[in-house]
Amino acid sequence: MISVQDGQNQILHQLAESTPPEVVAVTRARDRVLAEDLHAPFDVPPADNSAVDGYAVASDDVPAAKTRELDVVAEIMAGAMYAGTVAPGQTVRIMTGAPMPRGADTVYPQEVVERRGDRLRVGPIPKGSNVRQRGEDIQAGTVALERGTVLRPQELGLITSLGQWQVLVHRRPRVALLSTGDEVVEPGTPRKAGQIYDANRFTLRGSIEQCGGEVIDLGIVADVRDELRARLLEAAEVGDMVVTSGGVSVGALDLVKDVLGEIGAIDFWQVAMQPGRPLAFGRVRSAHFFGLPGNPVASMLAFMLFVRPAIYKLGGRRRLFPETAEAVAVEAMSKKKGRREFKRGVVRWQNGRWEARTTGPQGSGILSSMAAGNCLIVLDEDRGDVAVGDTVLVEPF
Ligand code: AMP
Ligand code: MG
Repeated sequence: MISVQDGQNQILHQLAESTPPEVVAVTRARDRVLAEDLHAPFDVPPADNSAVDGYAVASDDVPAAKTRELDVVAEIMAGAMYAGTVAPGQTVRIMTGAPMPRGADTVYPQEVVERRGDRLRVGPIPKGSNVRQRGEDIQAGTVALERGTVLRPQELGLITSLGQWQVLVHRRPRVALLSTGDEVVEPGTPRKAGQIYDANRFTLRGSIEQCGGEVIDLGIVADVRDELRARLLEAAEVGDMVVTSGGVSVGALDLVKDVLGEIGAIDFWQVAMQPGRPLAFGRVRSAHFFGLPGNPVASMLAFMLFVRPAIYKLGGRRRLFPETAEAVAVEAMSKKKGRREFKRGVVRWQNGRWEARTTGPQGSGILSSMAAGNCLIVLDEDRGDVAVGDTVLVEPF
């Protein structure tokens, strides 16, 4: 038996390289991973500018606790520059985003002033009010985004605010995926007695896509030695990674093991976890290989624990593991010491705290427990049964 943590460490240790960089248009870069530090070539915003529609003044020109009359000498629209200087006794009407004119350091919102013709009456105002400082968003020369950052919409806008329309990202890791088992059939085709429809290839496909991988779907392969060997070799050719489900337990037809012994260097692990004990990891030719258990919950969980961080690392991400949070158990849960258990749970903000309960029956074949849940409840190795009111760790889906 090895622990979840040791398994993760061994896997990540084998994944030294990340996929090569490629240039993509920012419009196609959402959810991709930045492959270089992005330096700001200039300040954003590039000049001090007005945060409101109003009037630009030199604050020294307005005495404290007094009103003052000023001449409105010009109007600056966003996108324009004022060529002159605001002299004592003068003000310039300014629009949001317009650069501050020389001589002015403060802006009155138009709602707080009184204007008659070209005369403006104002009261005192703190120096610098309603001015956005040059570089207050991003300073020239600094790293605006670090390599390994996943590009969400806000990062995309930040990149284009620096004038770039293309960005260097890691190529998506290619993951060849197949299901094994004589009993497993393709959805949309007739099912004979004794057969089941393939669930794993679709939970895994979705999971791979969700974490930024490109799926190469190699379908279902029967428990036939030669077919399996051929399909695995094909998978290793097209994928950076090969992911299979089924065939890694100790059943008579669990051929994945045997065949992999012939064509790759694979370790077979018994991981101290529940569900999902058996796991195969290693290499077939130049591809990383993951043999996940056949039971649908077990395969999806093993993916989350072992394949996802590997895809993340291969894909160049900095952050490999998800956020966790603490919640109060509102249900007793059985837990065996010596292994890490993962209950499918529902966590909700209730009674002024995060409360967690399980989704009900927790068998490793009960995929509806995943569908009903919004989190994993993670119970560590050294922990025993959970009582109502105990604190548990949750990992939101
Ligand atoms: P195995 O590890 O191949 O013995 O499979 C363990 C259990 O998972 C068996 O009940 C299989 O029928 C089931 N199973 C294997 N592959 C799939 C799949 N792709 N979709 C749904 N269930 C599967
Ligand atoms: Mg099988």
